[in-house]
Amino acid sequence: MLRVAVVGSGPSGCYTAQCLVQQDPEVLVDVLDRLPCPFGLVRYGVAPDHEKIKSLQGNLRTVLEHDRVRFLGGVRVGGPGGLPVERLRTLYHAVVYCVGAATDRHLGIPGEDLPGSWSATEFVSWYSAHPDSVAEEGFVREVRSAVVIGVGNVAVDVTRMLARGAAELSPTDMPQQALAALAASGVTEVGMVGRRGPSQARFTTKELRELGGLPDTEVIVDPAELALDPAYADPSGLPAPQRRNVDVLRGWADRPAGDAARHIRLRFFLRPVELLADGGRVGAVRFERTVPDGHGGVTGTGRFEDVEAQLVLRSVGYRGVPLEGLPFDTVSGTVPHTGGRVVRGGTASPGEYVAGWIKRGPTGVIGTNRPCAKETVTSLLADAPALVHKDVPPDPAAVLRAAGTETIGWAGWQAIERAEAELGARLGRGIVKLADWDSLLTAARTAAP
Ligand code: NAP
Repeated sequence: MLRVAVVGSGPSGCYTAQCLVQQDPEVLVDVLDRLPCPFGLVRYGVAPDHEKIKSLQGNLRTVLEHDRVRFLGGVRVGGPGGLPVERLRTLYHAVVYCVGAATDRHLGIPGEDLPGSWSATEFVSWYSAHPDSVAEEGFVREVRSAVVIGVGNVAVDVTRMLARGAAELSPTDMPQQALAALAASGVTEVGMVGRRGPSQARFTTKELRELGGLPDTEVIVDPAELALDPAYADPSGLPAPQRRNVDVLRGWADRPAGDAARHIRLRFFLRPVELLADGGRVGAVRFERTVPDGHGGVTGTGRFEDVEAQLVLRSVGYRGVPLEGLPFDTVSGTVPHTGGRVVRGGTASPGEYVAGWIKRGPTGVIGTNRPCAKETVTSLLADAPALVHKDVPPDPAAVLRAAGTETIGWAGWQAIERAEAELGARLGRGIVKLADWDSLLTAARTAAP
């Protein structure tokens, strides 16, 4: 019987496990995660107010409850104190790394590390109750104006969360401290700024349009700035998704000004060059005006504009992190592979595979992980006849526990879910996420081993 470890229980890990059990009636799959909670970015990345996308958790749950799939939380692979990749390889016939892209890209400009400047990832982790979140309520305290750098879907998410009020946030599973801080925040101006033009923005139309439907919030665009983009005047040559974005922006540009309490200003052709301090914290972002270079890029004009901001969220994409013991391409931030097989020293290494963002980079929506997982599983199962002869222990989880790892199984996760429902009931809300390691582990330990 083939024993496979999938490292990471986010969408790519779950789809890989699903594909394995669907295609091989014999395979046994352990899905490992360093956290006691499954679902990766669906739990810790999808915005709390995006209930429809979050409901995908139900599909991933079905995979982890399959009788030949086992969730093993609390198992860190690689890094200090983690299970070395070489050791993991001895416990299973094959290992599939689905570890995502765990960090954020940097701007590399002066002032980037000033207090009040955060990566969008840090902000998302905070309101999603990630137990490693570094920030606290101070995020939005005494902030009137915020600037979000980047015009992708994460930028739209964090912009929307800054603009939402208590009534809209309270029904979500957002942790109580983040809810209280956002509900009490005095943020009235949010700028979302792209270095290229509106036709090159990375957000999707559904997400963009949602900004226009927020209560007591007005989206403001400057028609003259949009018109710097030749494709704004004549969008006929654009692919449909970009054309739809331009249409939405044009609708906002044509609208008369309203009297909403909050404003979202969508800006384009502004490249961040420096974060300016005010009293030891960020006070503004200096941008250089850019113009199209005719090849899809932009060039600077030497003209600058300072935009006030007591909070700056840098939302310029994720980046993969090397896992000690696995090859890594530092340029793309991914593990080199062919058809999902990890490539070591120019040769495919049977028994080691990748899927998801660590394989193809941080792009695409959740569903993109399905075909990606399928490709990897096809390679793995083609190699399986040679791999299955390797001697592996009958129960790798028992080996891990004997070596001192406190594995959190499905019952532990279900105990966390119960604790989150109880917390929500006490607070007069629905489910409310537990936001720290202690609470998560205490809850998980109430489960029968
Ligand atoms: P993204 O889509 O790659 O967008 C990154 C943004 O940052 C782009 O606007 C990019 O501009 C800009 N940028 C990069 N480097 C910059 C720099 N040095 N200075 C200024 N701007 C810079 O990344 P993301 O928003 O993090 O999203 C990651 C993936 O998750 C995407 O596939 C996204 O669709 C997905 N996602 C989906 C949803 C959803 O479906 N609701 C929600 C969240 C995330 P350029 O284009 O000029 O490089």
